[in-house]
Amino acid sequence: MKAIFLRVALDTPLDTLFDYRCVLSTATDKASIPYIGQLLVVPFGRQELVGVIVDIRESTDVPENKIKDVITVRTELTPLLPDWMALVQFAADYYQRPLGEVALPALPKNLKAIKPVSLQRNLKKLAKISTTNNVQPTAEPDLNAEQQAAVDQITGASGFAANLLFGVTGSGKTEVYLQAATKVLARDEQSQILILVPEINLTPQFESHIRARFPGVMLSTLHSGMAEGERLLHWLAAHQGQARIILGTRLAMLASIPHLKLIIVDEEHDPSYKQQEGLRYSARDLAIWRARQLNIPVVLGSATPSLESWQGAQSGRYRQLNLRERAVKNAVLPVVKIINLEREKPSDGLTPRLISSIKLRLEKGEQSLLFLNRRGYAPVLACDACGWISQCTRCTANLVLHKGDHRLRCHHCGLEQRIPRSCPTCGNIDLQPLGRGTQRMEESLAAIFPDAKVFRIDADSTRLKGSAAAAFERVHDGDVDILIGTQMVAKGHDFKRLTLVAALNPDAALFSQDYRASERLFAQLMQVSGRAGRTAQKEGGNMSEVLVQTRYPDHPLYHALMAHNYEDFAKDLLLERQQAQLPPFMYQALLRAEAKELQQALEFLQQAAACQTHIGITINDPIPMTMTRVANVDRAQLLVESASRPALQAFVKEWIITLRSFKSRVKWSIEIDPVDI
Ligand code: ADP
Ligand code: ZN
Ligand code: ZN
Repeated sequence: MKAIFLRVALDTPLDTLFDYRCVLSTATDKASIPYIGQLLVVPFGRQELVGVIVDIRESTDVPENKIKDVITVRTELTPLLPDWMALVQFAADYYQRPLGEVALPALPKNLKAIKPVSLQRNLKKLAKISTTNNVQPTAEPDLNAEQQAAVDQITGASGFAANLLFGVTGSGKTEVYLQAATKVLARDEQSQILILVPEINLTPQFESHIRARFPGVMLSTLHSGMAEGERLLHWLAAHQGQARIILGTRLAMLASIPHLKLIIVDEEHDPSYKQQEGLRYSARDLAIWRARQLNIPVVLGSATPSLESWQGAQSGRYRQLNLRERAVKNAVLPVVKIINLEREKPSDGLTPRLISSIKLRLEKGEQSLLFLNRRGYAPVLACDACGWISQCTRCTANLVLHKGDHRLRCHHCGLEQRIPRSCPTCGNIDLQPLGRGTQRMEESLAAIFPDAKVFRIDADSTRLKGSAAAAFERVHDGDVDILIGTQMVAKGHDFKRLTLVAALNPDAALFSQDYRASERLFAQLMQVSGRAGRTAQKEGGNMSEVLVQTRYPDHPLYHALMAHNYEDFAKDLLLERQQAQLPPFMYQALLRAEAKELQQALEFLQQAAACQTHIGITINDPIPMTMTRVANVDRAQLLVESASRPALQAFVKEWIITLRSFKSRVKWSIEIDPVDI
């Protein structure tokens, strides 16, 4: 009999690892000796927890009478490899979280069930998933010169390389990914490829491209919309090396992929690569780290790269690959025109010029897409008589009117009420919706164009599982004349018959306090514009066009949009950021505090700000968050900045220890590289 001690990471907020004893009898066969990276079940307080073995030792500092025995080691699962362990360790260190809070949530739930589902059975099912043999394979189209150069660069070099694939919308970035993938897959029979997309809704489109190009190759998809059983299966397929291509949203970045040889991040600028709760990681940044760790290439693709990535390319850290033309012959970028709302008055949110453009498209049997980033019927319900407006009682926010199900709804805390029949303060029965959301636009469009098929896509219309896929299918099939939608419709979709795009009311973001708002708005408008004119322009047909309704026709952002000029726009923004000492020229960390009373949160932050000084670190004043109250909790924040990433890291590490020692009732968290400030 021999005892060894397993150092284990558990999903607890305690920033420490835990030692357990594991007794090996002399009869123990090799197969049941534990390894680093294996899962196991251990007692923890009165419960049992699943953890992962981080280290194996001959001795422990835990006293003999305190040490507990391991319950079982999950030997049936191949251990997580050292490179995966290093990935989660890096994420834990960089984002300043306990290792267990990073490693365990990265694994599928069913893998962590105390009574494990039979892995054997699941492994058998594996062979069946995702390998499609009944698909008619599509041939590779001939690449144009720029696409070919990109594929050659990506696959030509050996070792780590960060490639920024800067390609206008419709330039055929997908084809570059697919042909680079073909080469990497052919190179060795184990190699695996990870492709990240920003939205679950984009996975079906991508999946069908992959299946058609790689029949017989096992594809694993990973995103948050999957049932747990399915998720386990797909995770295992990647972990066991069977799946050669792994397609997923940001969470796939933390999957175990033992033979990873290429990482692709499509639409790398997209804010959804940043996780906004728990471990607030950036999947794009982790992709770069992972590629460097494994010494493999990574591709960041976008028509509007994030300023971080653009700066990376400008400074020579990333290699820039350009696709300047649309890939389809005679498909040209749409003409962008500005409609001045001061001169052309809209009715029901639509200017006469926009209405006649939609008419023209209808006559030609072409599709129009109207972009309005505001769901619901109207953002607020108001009483003219006394000035009452529908406000959330729990948040610093208005209740949004949803007419279909007669509800007022808070988009932040989920509070719901029936629409009042009369004003709650003065009894006036004539309550008016103020402003316009997608539902109201849908209603107006149906009234103006009674013969057209008007269709809405937003988070409300696609709540049911599978309904988003069905909705996009409908648009692709051409069964829609006018599509109205939020940013959901702006991303990535390759609509074939769409020739008019209109941004109904994009101005709000121009004057936001968030310094990233204009970068985001520009990317969004470029993206949504890029949905138009993706197929060959018809002989003698009209140019596809983009119409932007605005009160600020001279704003530089709209001028850059008209010129399809990302580069100059990015140059100006980067200059501004440099002058203002903002990211990517500065590194930031944000301390957030939440309390019942704003004062408590602010006091906590003041105490936090006072407790440490450090050379090269700027600690700003605590301020209430723009939306101060959410779900009856007041929120404040404190921004810390440094020109040096390591200095900031070192500071935060010490700071957290001090903050923990406050024993304050205030709930706090730290975010590294925050994007929403
Ligand atoms: P992006 O992702 O850059 O916006 P896509 O990858 O969706 O663009 O490609 C736009 C369209 O161009 C697609 O319909 C695609 O099939 C087509 N395409 C891509 N590459 C080629 C090529 N080399 N020859 C012909 N068509 C192409
Ligand atoms: Zn009133
Ligand atoms: Zn609310």
